[in-house]
Amino acid sequence: PRVTLLAGGVGGAKLAEGLAAVCSPERLSIIGNVADDQEFHGLWVSPDIDTLTYSLANLIDRRQGWGLADESHRVLAGLERLGCDTWMSLGDRDMATHIFRTQLRHQGVRPSAIAQRIAESLGVDIDLLLPTDDPLQTTVKTEQGWLAFQEYFVRERCRPEVLEVRFEGAATARPTSEALAAIETAEVLLIAPSNPVVSIAPILAVPGIRRAIETSRATRVAVSPLIGGRTVKGPADRMLTAMGYPCSNLGVAESYAGLLDGLVIDASDRDDRTALEAEGVTVLTTDTLMTDAEEKARLAGETLAFAGALR
Ligand code: GDP
Ligand code: CA
Repeated sequence: PRVTLLAGGVGGAKLAEGLAAVCSPERLSIIGNVADDQEFHGLWVSPDIDTLTYSLANLIDRRQGWGLADESHRVLAGLERLGCDTWMSLGDRDMATHIFRTQLRHQGVRPSAIAQRIAESLGVDIDLLLPTDDPLQTTVKTEQGWLAFQEYFVRERCRPEVLEVRFEGAATARPTSEALAAIETAEVLLIAPSNPVVSIAPILAVPGIRRAIETSRATRVAVSPLIGGRTVKGPADRMLTAMGYPCSNLGVAESYAGLLDGLVIDASDRDDRTALEAEGVTVLTTDTLMTDAEEKARLAGETLAFAGALR
């Protein structure tokens, strides 16, 4: 089938890799999150897109799940000596991506064309799409006031309680024609086990995208980022609670209301099935922790088979 995946960073990239192993590349499109982007040292950094690209190119640092393998940080050390804030870890080889991206942006190249060009240069043969080419920025309200997403996520290590989340620019952002087409032509639309509140919601906030998913004829399935009712890593569970959703697969399904035919949940959360099915969401229960290539491919295969059975 033609498959389109909505994905954030680390959790998204794991399922993206699994799909890449079981789908032919010309039938797979991935729509990534750009609302985590931020400028550092004059360079435009796009963490979730880079995580997808580096993972699919098999260049990712497998131990941490982001950044390039075999990195050094001499440029960052130099910037620190010059008095720059260096809480955002940017490796020397990674810096090349940001320099290239920034240079092309200054030349007026569309951000989505840049993302595709970087992916192709690194050997990725899958369409890696951006939901919008316009500015879109997640900001997070905490007791310290409003923080840029990376300030909350990296500098403050997700410690402050989240009171509110906003996607600056969402009201006027235009969807890319490529993202809309990938949604409209998909036979299977998947949502990765990514943070629903700050990885998937900003994609859905781009005007036109949610509507396209709602009206799509594709079978729509999400893989839950929760295992045993908790996130594997990161603040998604606490954020669901902060947004007023139950901190469980019910909350994940609620956050995707109107967008889902099926939800894949971990075997440890099998007790959620009855309540989910009462809400009209068909459930597949399986092992959803992906720690190696085989597990990624297996979960991707099972998710596609589940979506196929829902048609
Ligand atoms: P980020 O942008 O790097 O924060 O990554 P995402 O938003 O794409 O993914 C974060 C979510 O991935 C977290 O809520 C994790 O619980 C989830 N996650 C990470 N690894 C796995 C996994 O192997 N299986 C499942 N089901 N979820 C995972
Ligand atoms: Ca992210």
